[in-house]
Amino acid sequence: MTGTTPSGLAITGGTRLLGLLGDPVHHSLSPAMHNAALAVLGLDYVYVPLPVRDPDLAVVLQGLRAVGVQGLNVTIPHKQAVMPLIQTIQPVAGHMGAVNTLYPLADGGWGGTNTDAIGFQAPLQQQDWSGKTVTVLGYGGSARAVLYACQQLGFAQIQVITRDPQAVRTPLPGCSFHSWSDLPPLLPHTDLLVNTTPIGMKSSATPVERDLLATLPPAAWVYDLIYVPAPTTLLHMAQELGYHTQNGLEMLVQQGAAALSLWLGGIPVPIEIMRSAALAHVSRDG
Ligand code: NAP
Repeated sequence: MTGTTPSGLAITGGTRLLGLLGDPVHHSLSPAMHNAALAVLGLDYVYVPLPVRDPDLAVVLQGLRAVGVQGLNVTIPHKQAVMPLIQTIQPVAGHMGAVNTLYPLADGGWGGTNTDAIGFQAPLQQQDWSGKTVTVLGYGGSARAVLYACQQLGFAQIQVITRDPQAVRTPLPGCSFHSWSDLPPLLPHTDLLVNTTPIGMKSSATPVERDLLATLPPAAWVYDLIYVPAPTTLLHMAQELGYHTQNGLEMLVQQGAAALSLWLGGIPVPIEIMRSAALAHVSRDG
């Protein structure tokens, strides 16, 4: 018994491997999304989660390249740690200071890029944000991708709320940094509010209380990177107040689709299928 790939082909020595490096990886939606897409495409590939501890990262990268792995996603806690271990870093990933996608280089080793910004901005593309103001809550790993995307989208003002603005050592050009106590005067002029903090992920907590949220202009958007629970308390209140809302599931789907397309040589990938697989997974486990 050889088993089969998601597309129903027998697993053989010719079956190609894709995977996710992280720690932990057991709750990731990526295997479900990617394998669903590979099944529809009928390709002889399989995508597997690969738990990797920090001290093993270098040897794992070398070994997976040696056995011909065709592509890797990288998640917490390795997005920065992987950078000095790979041979080429695309400017977009260098700018963000984080890599989430690896592809094999023809002469050995790995190239790295970052598809998180593509994922974040996908649901915002239909609007013209030039001249507008975005306020981003939190300045951790995912905020780098959000800020890069906001620069690409043409925002005139990019305001970042961080617990210690004085401690920001690598301020990004075009961004201003503020403390949480500065938020009240900023919100009435904010067109897009983005939560990149984990507040609301494990509880009904919210980074912004209802009265303060209600000071956003009527046409404002509220975007929470969290996708479980759906909606978060922040998004639930924003919906009740009549704002446009967006959770983080589409960002996850779109960053995955961009990575898969890269690994498969730029072919279109079935995003609908990836979205349905992610939603089914969230509904089952969330
Ligand atoms: P992270 O690197 O730990 O950064 C989170 C930042 O939030 C921290 O650096 C901090 O910013 C701020 N923060 C954390 N706890 C806080 C608190 N109690 N009060 C105020 N600020 C607080 O995490 P991350 O990787 O950016 O992920 C953040 C969230 O985004 C998580 O919920 C994650 O699941 C979600 N996410 C979603 C996607 C997606 O595809 N949808 C992708 C990545 C992440 P300061 O240090 O500046 O104060």
